[in-house]
Amino acid sequence: MTYQFECSTGPCQFLIRSSSAEEVERLVRAHVRMTHNGRIDPADLEREVERVEAA
Ligand SMILES: [Zn+2]
Repeated sequence: MTYQFECSTGPCQFLIRSSSAEEVERLVRAHVRMTHNGRIDPADLEREVERVEAA
């Protein structure tokens, strides 16, 4: 299983994909903190991480 997150904040093109949901969540939190000077709500994070079939 592959987990994917696409940042939807403004023109941000950040996309992360990993086989580890924990890694995706960790990198997304770091991205939001560093790039948007903010935090992501855990519920939003969970909702926005998509499970995709590995190609
Ligand atoms: Zn972003």
